[in-house]
Formats: sequence, structure tokens, C-alpha cells
Amino acid sequence: MAYSRDGGRKDKDYKQQRKGPSNKRYIVRRKVCTFCVNKSSSIDYKDANMLSRYISTRGKIEPRRRTGVCARHQRALSLAIKRARHIALLPYTSSFVHKTGITTPH
Ligand SMILES: [Zn+2]
Repeated sequence: MAYSRDGGRKDKDYKQQRKGPSNKRYIVRRKVCTFCVNKSSSIDYKDANMLSRYISTRGKIEPRRRTGVCARHQRALSLAIKRARHIALLPYTSSFVHKTGITTPH
């Protein structure tokens, strides 16, 4: 998806928000990036406990719009999650998918 298109849509959503509620797919709620707030907490790929908060039950990396992480930290986070997966601290998929092979759409 192109970034310019994304930005345009956000602008439109913002205008609609001022008029009143509309049929938006995602509720736009500004969250503060937790990594920006407490600057001391760095993104460590060995910290599986912390990283597991940013992956879904299926083992997928949660999107920014859900976690509220800023773009810079999301990039660092995804890299850390991928590293953690490589050394088997985090799953690539949930064990449920591994066993059954069923990938039901959300
Ligand atoms: Zn941040």
C-alpha cells in the first residue's frame, strides 16, 4: 500500500470525525508510544515477555494502529520480534496452526 494513499485517507477520516461519527473501519484513538514515554526501556530481542505483547495470538506482529507504537519503534520492534523468532523465543505461528494446519480467516 502506498503511503501517500494512507495519508490521504487519514486526512479524510479526520474531517469526517469533526462532522460526526461515520462508518470507519478502525477507531482512531491516539495512543502514546510506550517506548517513547519511558526512554529507558530499549527494545531487546531477548526480552520475549515484552515482545509477546506486540504479537497476536496467531503469532503475527500487531499493527501500529492497534498497539499505538510510533513508526520508529515499530520498525525496531518488528526487527526484534523477527530476531526473537529466529532464536525460538517467539513463535512464527501459533501451536494450534502447527498441529491442525487450519488457517481460518479472522
Ligand atoms: Zn516510539
